[in-house]
Order: sequence, then C-alpha cells, then structure tokens
Amino acid sequence: MSILRLAIPSPLRISFDYLPPAALSSTELASLQPGCRVRVPFGRREMVGYLLAVLAETDIQANKLKPAIEVLDSVSFISPLMLQLCQWAATYYHHPLGEVIAAAFPAHLRQGKAHKPLGTAGWRLNGRGKGLPEGALNRSPKQARALSLLQREQSIAATTLSKEGISAAVLRTLLEKNLIERCTLKTHTAKGQSNPGLNLNDEQSAAVAAIQATLGGFHCHLLEGVTGSGKTEVYLRLIARCLEEGKQVLVLVPEIGLTPQTLDRFQARFQANIVSLHSGLAEGERYRAWEAAREGSAHIVIGTRSSIFAPLNRLGLIIVDEEHDNSYKQQDGFRYSARDIAVKRAHLEGCPVVLGSATPSLESIHNVNTGRYRHLQLQQRAGGAQLPTMAALDIRRQPLTAGFSSMLLAAIADTLQQGKQVLLFLNRRGYAPTLLCHDCGWLAQCRNCDARLTVHRRRGILRCHHCCASVALPTRCPDCHGPGVMTAGVGTEQAEDFLRLQYPDKPLYRVDSDSMRGKGSMQALVAELNKSKPCILLGTQMLTKGHHFPAVALVAVIDADAALFSADFRGEERMAQLLTQVAGRAGREGDPGQVLLQTHYPDHPTLQAVLTQPYSVHARAILAQRLELQLPPASSMLILRTDAADQQNGEQFLHEIRNQTRNALPPEATLIGPLPSPMQRRAGKFRNQLLLIAANRQAAQASASTLVSAAEKLPARRLNWTIDIDPLE
Ligand code: ADP
Ligand code: ZN
Ligand code: ZN
Repeated sequence: MSILRLAIPSPLRISFDYLPPAALSSTELASLQPGCRVRVPFGRREMVGYLLAVLAETDIQANKLKPAIEVLDSVSFISPLMLQLCQWAATYYHHPLGEVIAAAFPAHLRQGKAHKPLGTAGWRLNGRGKGLPEGALNRSPKQARALSLLQREQSIAATTLSKEGISAAVLRTLLEKNLIERCTLKTHTAKGQSNPGLNLNDEQSAAVAAIQATLGGFHCHLLEGVTGSGKTEVYLRLIARCLEEGKQVLVLVPEIGLTPQTLDRFQARFQANIVSLHSGLAEGERYRAWEAAREGSAHIVIGTRSSIFAPLNRLGLIIVDEEHDNSYKQQDGFRYSARDIAVKRAHLEGCPVVLGSATPSLESIHNVNTGRYRHLQLQQRAGGAQLPTMAALDIRRQPLTAGFSSMLLAAIADTLQQGKQVLLFLNRRGYAPTLLCHDCGWLAQCRNCDARLTVHRRRGILRCHHCCASVALPTRCPDCHGPGVMTAGVGTEQAEDFLRLQYPDKPLYRVDSDSMRGKGSMQALVAELNKSKPCILLGTQMLTKGHHFPAVALVAVIDADAALFSADFRGEERMAQLLTQVAGRAGREGDPGQVLLQTHYPDHPTLQAVLTQPYSVHARAILAQRLELQLPPASSMLILRTDAADQQNGEQFLHEIRNQTRNALPPEATLIGPLPSPMQRRAGKFRNQLLLIAANRQAAQASASTLVSAAEKLPARRLNWTIDIDPLE
C-alpha cells in the first residue's frame, strides 16, 4: 500500500494522509516529488495540498482513508530546499505547514490551475515527424507546406504559422497523425554588460571587499550606513559580481512604492532581466515574475516581504534593504519576519545575506555584538554630501495655524525662496484625527472599535483607520443637534489646504496612501522632484522610506510629539529610527540640509538623544537598557492573542491555557496576562492577549509548543486565537 502524506492549507497543524488517485500508475507514483500539488476531497470541499512524502503505512484506519482526486504536477515547482525552508518557518512560527507552503506559490497554482511555462505557444515536429522523408505529405499541399516549414526550424510560434496561412485545422490533422507536438518558445533574455557605476569611496570599497570575500558561503552582514552613504552603490557592485558568476540575486525592499524606484536604478545599471514581485501587481504579472525567477530567466528579483519565498535555483546573494522596517513583519495570518527568514534562507542556500540600514534594528545590532553577524559601517555620506543639521523648534505658547508655527513657516518660505525643496512630515492621514461637539462634548467614535473616527473632509466622510468603516460627515451634532461640531488636530489633508493658500505659486505634492493609489504615482512624483524645482512635499511615513530626493534642503517634522509617548517598549527605538530616516531625506546632494522638529517637549531625553547623537550611538544606549531590563533582544517574546465577539470568551480561554500549562512551561519562561489588548475592541471583536517572555529562544520555542497544543485541545468556542512569535507590537 502507498500513502500520500500532504500538507493542506488549513488551520490544523497536522499533515493529512490520502490514498493515491486510482488512475495513478505505479511508475507515476514512484516518480512523485515532494512539493507536487495534489487535489483532494477535504470535508465537504476540494482543496489543493502539497505532497510531503509517499509512505508505506499510516496510523489512519483503512476505511477512513480517502483517495486523492488528482495529482496536478509530474515535477515539483518548489525545490527541496524551499520545502525545507517552509518546514522551518512552520515550526518556528508555529503556523500550519500547508499555509506556509501555499505562501511560496502564486495564487494561480495555489488554486490548482495548470502550470504554464513562459514564452509563446508554438509547434514543432515530434520524433516521427522528423523521420518523414521530404515530400511525404504531397497529396495534401497544405500539410506538406506546414511540414516543410517545420522541417526548416526547431520550432515555430503558432502566430507565425497562422500568418504563413497554416490553419488550425491543418495543425490538428498533423497532431492526429502524431507528427507534430506543442511547445513553448522561450523569449531570450540575454545578460549583457553592466555599467561600471561610480568610483567607490574607501568605506564602500571595504564593505564590498568584505562581503565579496564571503560569496559562495553563508555569512550574515549588517551594513550600517548613515542615510545617503551609498549603500545602494554597495549592493549594485555586489550584484554585478553575482551576475558575472551566473548567479541570481534576491533584493527585498520594504514598500511597493520603493520597488519601481529601485527597479529603475537597477535597470539603468544592468543589462539583465530584473523582475519585481509585490502585492500591487496583477495576478498574471505576478505569476510571470514568479515563473521567470523559477525557470531562471530572471537574474534579479526585487520584491517586498512575501518575495522571500520566491523560487530562485541559482541564488547567490540576498539583500534586505532597510532591514529595520516593520513592514517585513507580516501582522496577520502567517505572522513571519521576512528579514529573519532571509537569514535562514541564506543559511540553507549557502550564500551571504546583507542586511542594510541607516537605522538598524536593535536585534541586528545585538547579533553583531554577540558575533553572529559581521558589521560593516559607512559613516560618511557618499559623494561629499554632509549630514543635515538638526534642531528642535519649541512651540510652547506659540500660535499654531493648521499645526504650523510662524518660525517653521518662515523657514519654509526661506527655503523656497532659495529655489530649494521642502519636505514636511506629518504621520496622520485625513483632515483631522478628531471630530467633537463644542456644545455637548460628543466625540465621533467608531461603532466597531475603541477608536476615534478620522475626518476626511474632501470626501465628506468620517472614517475609521482600523476597520475602514465610514459614515457621512455630520454638519450638526448627532447628540444635541446643535451646530457646534468642530475638528481637533491636524492631518495631511488640512495641512495641504493651508499650505496651498500660504504658497499659492509653489507646487505641493501630498504623499500618503490616500493620494498615492495608482501604481505609477510614486514614480511620477520622483521624476517630477528630480527636476529640482522648488516645491513642497507633504506626507506620511511613506515619504521617509529610503527615497532619494536630491533637491530637498529643509525637512520638518510637524508633530514630533506624536511619537514621543508610546506604551510599547520599542517606542524609543521606533522614534529614533523614524526621525533619523525623515531627517535623512535632507541635503542628500550639495549643501547640507536642515531638519526642524516642532515639539512641546524640547528637553525630552529621547528627543535630545536624537538631536545630539548619531543613531548608531543612541541605538546602542537603548540596547544597553533593554539588556538590563531583560527585554528583547536580550530575551524572546511571544503573544497568544484571541479575538471574539463576546467580551468574556477570550479572557476565559487564555486563563484556562494559563492554568493548564502552569507546570509544563520551562522555568526560564514567564507569562503575563491574560490582559485586554491595546485598543481592546477592533472591527467589532474583543481582543485579549497572553504574553510570554523567555530568557532564551529555546525556552520560548518550547513554551510556544506547549501553549499551542493546549489551545488546540480546548473546545472551540466562537473565538479565533493566533500565536505571534517575536511580535513587534
Ligand atoms: P543610501 O542607499 O545609503 O541612502 P545611495 O546609494 O542612494 O545611499 O547614495 C546617495 C547618493 O550618493 C546618490 O546620489 C548616489 O548616486 C551618491 N553616491 C553613492 N556612492 C557614491 C560614490 N562612491 N561617489 C559619488 N557619489 C556616490
Ligand atoms: Zn453636541
Ligand atoms: Zn473601526
């Protein structure tokens, strides 16, 4: 007897055994590879599972075993190494293996559709057809002509044959006579010379040399380079070397907005096939990029988080740009860190991985300190540019208009006058974060969340930024019916309106997820900015990430206090990263830029540290505090979360888990909770959490297994629970 053991994308953390489909021959069975897709009955549905192994026996009773419906692939489209990576990720993140493997496939294949090779459909003679003597089909002139065309070429595109007047009917007849077969014509993507690029400075050269020396084996490098220090130049040099050696390179970037920009820069340098993979692509484009990576015609893959699972069989190097960025962590479903998986993947592939950032995460710095990662530093800006000067603008007792002090307005006017560009950072979308009634104190709150609704005046709505619910913007108070409704606080929409009135003759570009919807929006903006005309850029976090705006001379943070008081122990690290990154957009070419931070707390220690120390020094001071307090990265954390429509359910569930596992957890682990999650109600669900801190990773992993199996054994009671390993929030 043979048994197919499958991973199936379902919430159950087990594998599933099936009998082979009746139609499968024993030779087909013998040639099955792990990773092949198999369609099976699953409950009342059909599902696509992934073959893990063919076994001789199973613990399942024979009468309970069902036959699979169909084996979809004769070869696996996922390599043994990628399967191993998925297995590792499923174990480490305690997530069902079937869902992890599914993340490595494009939607098209996940849904069980046929694998389609790239290229154009064509025809060629088969063995019998090739053996036919000249003039064999002379009784049918049309068939004879098709034959003589096909005899001259290896293969011919279907469209070419049709242009030559060979009809589909003729081809069908030849197919029935078993003389020809279908084939796919590959579009040839030759790899040409790359441009030499800039002359590297000493720090860049040293970094390139150190990393190059490790090509061909696993090493993890942290490239810590101040903003504008030329990290991208270092990447490009390393990539050129890999391409020369016939290897492929995987480059991870944090945001979709950055992929086109990076893509342009790479395309200008290399005559190679560069594909991008991100969620903004249409399904067909995504599939083609994935397949180009897999079949090897793509030399460079640039992608966001999920492309860490892109199939590359000749991988020579992985680069994770802006490695500190939170968007590398998937925050729902399969909660993984693409950066951490990148390190594991490089380890399995036996290639180096470069984590680059001006503001590295404390985790990565800690890994340098403990000798796990190698450390490379770029302390100077490249090409002679200087780091900007930074200053706090004390706005206590200052009149503010739409959030702007007169000091800031003067600095903006001054910069524009000099023909330079201004970048204003305000991390709040919409017109205002709050709508209230001045007469009775009513507050516009979300019906589904413990959160206020944001005013979007242009669209005439109140919208919740957590559950996306929206209602029409009221003109009178819904409670007292008075006319006293007013907004409080400032969002980008309001700042935009004000700035347009203030500087009517200067172009203003608002950059947030409301205004930058289209695929090409960011690209068009970058092109516009590169013309270096005076203008104002106003935006959220989207503006801060890795962009290179050469003509920006003034950067201002309109509300630096917004980041100052965070309940998260990572708050200070985040703020230092954010402000350093925002500041890093100033003065990237030519004159040193200027950075102004509007604040009510100019003496706040975190703000002072950001103003007076480079990030590299500040970060190491925060790290020392973390180690003292035994917080990550000195320890390992995990969170078990619940969400339920009923307020009590989640808390009770977590209490039971806590009681049941009390004696089973390792002594190095401490449980905190159950507690309500911050913003307990979200999208109509009450959320609770049980947090665990363990002195080391092994203890955290052992605890996670114990907690997960306890959770799985408890009767299901109208709630969802999830586990988050190394949570970031
Ligand atoms: P980072 O990625 O570290 O922010 P970039 O690679 O974008 O920095 O480089 C910042 C600017 O410096 C770019 O305009 C780039 O062309 C320029 N640059 C980088 N390396 C050099 C170099 N060796 N010589 C001259 N200019 C350089
Ligand atoms: Zn009212
Ligand atoms: Zn809501």
